[in-house]
Amino acid sequence: MNQINQITLALSKGRIFEETLPLLAAAGITPAESPESSRKLIIGTNRADVRLIIVRASDVPTYVQHGAADLGIAGKDVLVEHGGEGLYQPVDLNIAKCRMMVATPVGFDYPAAVRRGARLRVATKYVDTARLHFASKGVHVDLIKLYGSMELAPLVGLADVIVDLVSTGGTLKANNLVAVEEIMPISSRLVVNQASMKLKHEAIQPIVDAFRSAAGK
Ligand code: ATP
Ligand code: MG
Repeated sequence: MNQINQITLALSKGRIFEETLPLLAAAGITPAESPESSRKLIIGTNRADVRLIIVRASDVPTYVQHGAADLGIAGKDVLVEHGGEGLYQPVDLNIAKCRMMVATPVGFDYPAAVRRGARLRVATKYVDTARLHFASKGVHVDLIKLYGSMELAPLVGLADVIVDLVSTGGTLKANNLVAVEEIMPISSRLVVNQASMKLKHEAIQPIVDAFRSAAGK
């Protein structure tokens, strides 16, 4: 774990960082610089006892689980794949909202493929989530793990369908794909290392409370 008098919060750049700024402000925390313009991976704040670390979105649970960060903000998509081991998830922050969806090329008859028991090739970053989803429907799948740009896979014959996050559907539309089934709604949650929650309770609880009320809970 981090030093006992130091609180480390793990965040990812981009959407989650932007949407976290108001929550940080509510907790009286102002970052010393923006991770978008700075190349620093450790960013100080107006509070001498609070620092931010900037990590890949999918790495946030790992840093918090191992106590390299006391707190973090991670999408439900990332938490479901990680499994949530060693983490408390005290607050759904209601930010970075989107939906985990099955999408297919326009014209692919997904309900018919499911009805006739076809074996589907599914490309996704979210293999565990996808495996569970299709198993619960009794659909046989071959899962193909990708790390990004899932939309390309059906266009070049790598997969029949994809499982990906969708907000406006603009990227799907631009690639002649359509969302056909929702797997789960997604938003970002505050995660807390379980040992930190006990040992640094006095410093962490006010941050949890401020985030909770700023999130309207
Ligand atoms: P990297 O770009 O580092 O590989 P990433 O592509 O997973 O990581 P982002 O695309 O910035 O990172 O997504 C970070 C998180 O934001 C996701 O885990 C998810 O919870 C949320 N998110 C992703 N796409 C959307 C979206 N279209 N609308 C709202 N929230 C989203
Ligand atoms: Mg990205």
